Amino acid sequence: MSKFFDDFVHLKVYLVGRCTKCKHYNELMVHDYGRLPYSKLEDEMDRTNHPIRPISCNKCGTEYKPQQLVYRDVVRDSEVAKVNIDYSNIIDDEKSAAMQEGHDDRFKIYQKREQEFWAAYTEFALEDWKSAVGELMRQEIEAGFAALGKKTTLKSDLHARREVLQKIAASDRRSFWIAANQEFIVGELLDLGVMGWVPIEFAKRYGAARTRFGVMYFPIAEALEDLRTKYIGLLFKRERGDNAFLLRRIGQLTDAAHKQTVKYNKALRQTDEQKHVIAEMQDKLGVANARITELSRQQPAQSRDSDDIRRIRELKSFVGELLAELRAI
Ligand SMILES: [Zn+2]
Repeated sequence: MSKFFDDFVHLKVYLVGRCTKCKHYNELMVHDYGRLPYSKLEDEMDRTNHPIRPISCNKCGTEYKPQQLVYRDVVRDSEVAKVNIDYSNIIDDEKSAAMQEGHDDRFKIYQKREQEFWAAYTEFALEDWKSAVGELMRQEIEAGFAALGKKTTLKSDLHARREVLQKIAASDRRSFWIAANQEFIVGELLDLGVMGWVPIEFAKRYGAARTRFGVMYFPIAEALEDLRTKYIGLLFKRERGDNAFLLRRIGQLTDAAHKQTVKYNKALRQTDEQKHVIAEMQDKLGVANARITELSRQQPAQSRDSDDIRRIRELKSFVGELLAELRAI
């Protein structure tokens, strides 16, 4: 997939975020992949889950929910990725296990429905051959020609596409299409697995029509269908044409879901912050009450001096204010 396939990478993963109590920024390293060639790292990442767990603040000791996952490359001293943690989307262990299982089983699932998928996919291409060929890149077209045992010299994507339209007989189109699409279907959709799909990038590299077909119909595990729905929403956001209304609606739903998610994550954090404020007030309240009790116990009521009486009155009004504040939260 990448031209840096044999380069070494040393990736470390951190949970990061600001403390909900004192706002201090903390990081916790949760995984060290060690120094690996890029090709090996992809396999390792495939097998590794980073559980999201609370981190504790170095400054005040509070445990709180991290806001982001950060991936850093130690070799290049650079941040590779920063991912917001979506707490509305944190799935229970059972669902997460089913998704991982679906991911691990992807080759088996594909094999079972491989023929049916390719039949539909070639049908889709043959319906509008010219547009389908218009999305192929030069190296894909080379693979197609090679599979048919034809030698060609292709100068550019455009030249290669013209050659296909001129030189591939109607009876050869099926075999040509299958060979030319191995990189996209097998090298990307199958090898990466749904959890690793990047639909927007796919659409840029392989063209919008092929990407839509692949994302909508590629055989996947039931447990991963929610992800597919999310990707469809992403791809069809700016669609025009016959299905425009329906597809725009899916896009809107995805938008709405995204807005809800942002709201949810924000609310969750505010709740945590309020919990700290309440806990702090309860501490103060406890101290004030203890002080009142102590002062009252020290001397019998008749002989209290005016200082003590004033202090008790002040403390009592402080308690009253705290209680009013607590009620206001
Ligand atoms: Zn803190």
